[in-house]
Amino acid sequence: MPDDTTLPPEARPSRDERLARLSPEDRAAVEVWSLGRRARDLAAAGAPDAPAAEAAYREAEAAAIEAEILMRRVDVEDLKARYPVLAGDAEVTVGVGWQLLLEALLDRLAGMSVVVPLVREKFGGLDAKVYPTGRWIEAEFDSVGEIKAPAQEAALRTCEACGAPGTLRRDGRGRTRCDRHAAM
Ligand SMILES: [Zn+2]
Repeated sequence: MPDDTTLPPEARPSRDERLARLSPEDRAAVEVWSLGRRARDLAAAGAPDAPAAEAAYREAEAAAIEAEILMRRVDVEDLKARYPVLAGDAEVTVGVGWQLLLEALLDRLAGMSVVVPLVREKFGGLDAKVYPTGRWIEAEFDSVGEIKAPAQEAALRTCEACGAPGTLRRDGRGRTRCDRHAAM
């Protein structure tokens, strides 16, 4: 797809034109994300209707997950309760298909002087940030790369949406999916 930002403003497609190019599923996903962005913007501005916007976003997201348009994500609060190595304000946005390999990673990090503030999908792979806490124990922190490697390798073979064997698909988005969830 050409990069529209290189075009002069008058030649750039409108939001509606860009949406019209997408599949119905991708269009629905974009609409849900827009609701989420709007809810976050309203919350950041302290707007009185922020809770209503958040509720509308959650409802749309749940419907899209139910319709298998959006991937179900891991339950961050549940993970934080079971893995103290996750920072209290950690962002964990990966799909449930990676739940087990993520738990295996967090198990191996447990007891080390590290904290995990972010776990996300990046270019189809698992991107987990691991930072040292308190006293820097160099040998320990050096081993973090080795500890992360199996989880990263497993993620590239595992559908992020469902956990079935998957492959990295480079058709536009770079996601690791099984055949059934190739479009999700
Ligand atoms: Zn799948």
